[in-house]
Amino acid sequence: MHSGQKQKLECALYVVATPIGNLRDISLRALDVLISADTIAAEDTRNTSNLLMHYSIAANRLMALHQHNERAAAEKVIALLARGLSVALVSDAGTPAISDPGAILVAEVRAAGYRVTPIPGANAALAALSAAGLPAPHFLFYGFLPNKAAARCRALQELIALPYTLIFYEAPHRILECVSDLQSVFGGDRQIVFAREITKLFESIQRCSLAEALVWLNGDPNRQRGEFVLLISGMAAQQEGLNADAEHVLAELLHELPLKQAVQLAVRITGAGRNELYQRALSLKSSA
Ligand code: SAM
Repeated sequence: MHSGQKQKLECALYVVATPIGNLRDISLRALDVLISADTIAAEDTRNTSNLLMHYSIAANRLMALHQHNERAAAEKVIALLARGLSVALVSDAGTPAISDPGAILVAEVRAAGYRVTPIPGANAALAALSAAGLPAPHFLFYGFLPNKAAARCRALQELIALPYTLIFYEAPHRILECVSDLQSVFGGDRQIVFAREITKLFESIQRCSLAEALVWLNGDPNRQRGEFVLLISGMAAQQEGLNADAEHVLAELLHELPLKQAVQLAVRITGAGRNELYQRALSLKSSA
């Protein structure tokens, strides 16, 4: 059963968001486009067939577009657009091109001069942020961190001084090591929110300090299962004494200079207190 309507679509690439769990989280307009598009480019055609079947939409217009064939598939999509046809792009869940295939296709279609139009809807990062209760006006969506510990810690070091809520995607089999690295790089004071299985049967949203996070995760094996978004409170919420610009300058200088010199220069550049900067430099160095 669906409430969408078949219509003649203008020639364009439609970037269509699909549910991240609950199949009812799809817009009426997304259904209209999926019913009407001449071709549907899907990350996994079997997965998308299931979604289409659920809404009694014919699944005979599917083509595969995934990370291993995106450029070749983009050529095919452009050939379809050149014939005046319409193409819908979907990924396995959520919004295409957000930690999912699609960005290369969109760039190539735009470069070829065809219209690209978004059909907005579910996205795990924004759903998690909306229910996390981290009161910060700004956020940074990072997506997946590197798989290997050394690269992951290096990536996290780059984010230490940012005064924004940080949003990560993480796989369940890496959740323990990832949270352990978050704690060792950011220290124990910041807040973490585990947004797990959003919109699904076992949805849970848990907030605690990074110091408590591993104990909570290990408290029940079910807490490590399913799909996760991790949110970490930004630096500004922690360091009331030192403003975000001073934090940032100090962190950058510490990459290049010995601690004492970095602090001296940071005092001159930012005007912040020597003692405060020195204490902060010590804690940044020790978490590195
Ligand atoms: N394009 C998708 C979007 O718009 O959110 C993200 C795709 S990415 C390959 C998949 C990751 O998104 C998962 O590993 C997990 O981190 C997050 N995710 C997807 N669905 C989720 C859900 N229902 N609950 C929590 N996290 C989810």
